[in-house]
This record gives sequence, structure tokens and C-alpha cells, in this order.
Amino acid sequence: MNVGVLGGGQLARMLAQAGRPLGLKFMFLCPDPQACATTFGEHVCAGFDDEAALTQLADWADVVTYEFENVPVQTVEFLERHVKVHPSSTALAVAQDRLIEKRRFRTLGIPTAEFSAASSLHDLEAAVDVIGLPAILKTRTQGYDGKGQGVLRTRRDLAPTWAALGGVPCIVEALVPFAREVSIIAARSACGAKVCYPLSENHHRDGILRLSLSCVEIGAQRQAEALIGRLLDDLDYVGVLTLELFQRGDELLANEIAPRVHNSGHWTIEGARTSQFENHLRAILGYPLGDTAITHPSAMVNIVGTLPPGLEEAAPACSALHVYGKAERPGRKIGHLTLLCADCEDTGFRDCLAHCLTLTKETELAKHVRTGATHRHISKT
Ligand code: AMP
Repeated sequence: MNVGVLGGGQLARMLAQAGRPLGLKFMFLCPDPQACATTFGEHVCAGFDDEAALTQLADWADVVTYEFENVPVQTVEFLERHVKVHPSSTALAVAQDRLIEKRRFRTLGIPTAEFSAASSLHDLEAAVDVIGLPAILKTRTQGYDGKGQGVLRTRRDLAPTWAALGGVPCIVEALVPFAREVSIIAARSACGAKVCYPLSENHHRDGILRLSLSCVEIGAQRQAEALIGRLLDDLDYVGVLTLELFQRGDELLANEIAPRVHNSGHWTIEGARTSQFENHLRAILGYPLGDTAITHPSAMVNIVGTLPPGLEEAAPACSALHVYGKAERPGRKIGHLTLLCADCEDTGFRDCLAHCLTLTKETELAKHVRTGATHRHISKT
């Protein structure tokens, strides 16, 4: 079977790596001539609005998918007229607009932080009267990795933050004093079958994900599965969907969805029976979904900006290094390291993880891990 992918970055690359053993062929449509996925298939080097290129992709592919949510909805709508596309343009449109997304959560009874639309500075002032401070202002569209948002602590922050975001339509949300951030990744096939992965506990710095840990626990897992299940069915979703959540006490609040495979699920490559990438392909091709049970408690550390010299030799034996073949650039995700906890005791795992975080210059997180402040929720199966 032929799989077309919009985008050619590391997520597209990992999809292709998962698809090879299934005998799948890949074509990537991506404007970047150096896109790192393209060694794994054919590359159509064109913009997402290039109808000739889109037609070429649609003619070749049995199914088309995408690796990031800023693909124009019109591109997906165009393709839908010619070929099967999963996830649908409807799901993509919901994920692209934070206001539409939060309203959908509300309609489905999925708890969120208090929020309000802000289309002008006047709206923002009125919204803050209701929501209170601190709050967070986000552009409705085009935000990623913490970009397109600003925290409002006092009323004096309102005008400059509004101006800094460019005066575009925004959403303002109460700032949630969460205990931790988690995500749940699930796959749904066209017949409605669903599987969910164990929760990931996620740690960010400067708006960029640095560390994800697979979690084994029951209460939060059940809650998260119920929430993502409602979204999957409501959107008649096909493929992998990620729901990012804040945990406050026993309560989970939905932050956002990503209609795609997700960085917080990279640990599933080695740490689950079937990776998120394989399950996405299985879902969009109509194959039976694979088992999502974890094989080892695991932790994924992102490599951001530069590849630390000697990392391969210095990384612990129980880790797997993934280097994406992208040029080094500040803030860019260029690889990751997954640490698997096969036999080592809890303290051994913590030491190994802290070592990996030190190697990747995440010294603060390494300190947290060493003192046990992180990874409270990991236990062995
Ligand atoms: P987002 O782009 O919505 O994923 O936000 C990026 C990061 O900002 C999240 O991972 C959180 O750490 C933080 N953040 C976003 N929204 C909120 C909120 N309402 N309350 C507290 N922190 C938030």
C-alpha cells in the first residue's frame, strides 16, 4: 500500500520507519528540500497549495495523512475530493483553532480552564474581569512550542501582551496551577475500534517538550481514556489523536489536541508492544489496531539544538538513540533518547535518567529526577 504524507519532518520519518516492516511505501509532500523523512520514500518538493503536486500525491497514494496540524485545511479538503485522507479536514479544523477546540471540549463535557474569546483589547479587558488573573493569552491559530502566547499577571500586562501577539484574534484562559502535565495518545479506526496508550507525564522548558515518562496508574488513566474517547467518537476520528491535559489534584483539564502522532509518545517505539506510529498507519489503512501495553517503563529525553558530542558512547546501555538527520539549530528538535527500565531498580532508573538529562544539558530536570520530584507515577507492571 502507498501512504502519502503532508510534511517531511521527524514525525513523517518515524511513520515511514514503522511502515517499512509492514511493506508500505511512502511519498512526502514538503516544501523543504532537506526534509529529514525523504530518505525513506519519494519526495515531492512543493508547497501545500500546489494543486499539481497535491494531485500527484493523491494519484499515487492509497491514503494520505499529515504530520503537523498547521497544514492548511483547504489542502486537506482538496485532497479529500481525490483520495482517502485521515484524520479528516473536520478534525484538523478543530485542532487548528484554540477557540473552536475549547468550545468543542465544553460541548462534550470535557473540563478545561475557564476561557473566553478575545478579538480586541476591549474584549480582553472584559474577559479578565470575569476570569481573573493570572491568565494566559494565546493566538487562536498558528501557535506551537509555546509560541503565540503570553502570561498576564497584572492588568498592566494586558495592552503590551495583546500588542506583542500582533492584535490577532485570541483566546484568554485562566492560568491553571497544575501539579503536572500529561498527555494521552489514542488510535481509532474507521469501524470505531479504539486503543489508548498509558499516559505520558510531560516536562517542558521554554515551551519545548524536554522529557516524557510513561506512567502506570489507574485513576487518571481511566479519566483520560474517557475524555479522549468522547473526542474520537464525536469527530468520527480515524488515526492517532493526542490530548494534552493538566492535572490539578485528582482532576484532569483538557488543554489541546494534536490530530497526529506526538512527541510525548516517542517512548512507544521501544516501550510499547505497538508504537504510536504503527498504530496510526494501522488505523488509516483499516488494519486491526495493535496492542498498546507497555513493555518497559520508559522515559524519552528530547535532544534540542545540538547533538552533544560523544552522546552515543556516553548514553546508558538501556537507552535507544534516535538522530533525525536534521541540521542543528537553537530550539530545534534533532533527536531523542529513550531510556528503558528493564531490570533496574527504581533508583537505578532514576540515576540513568538523570545521567541522560545531564548529557542533554537539562540540568534542572536532572536534579528533579535525582530527588524523586519527577517520575513519582512510574511503577513496574
Ligand atoms: P500550549 O501551546 O497550549 O500547549 O501551551 C504551552 C504550555 O504553556 C503548556 O504546555 C503549559 O505548560 C503552558 N500553559 C498553556 N495553557 C495554560 C494554562 N491555561 N494554564 C497554565 N499553563 C498553561
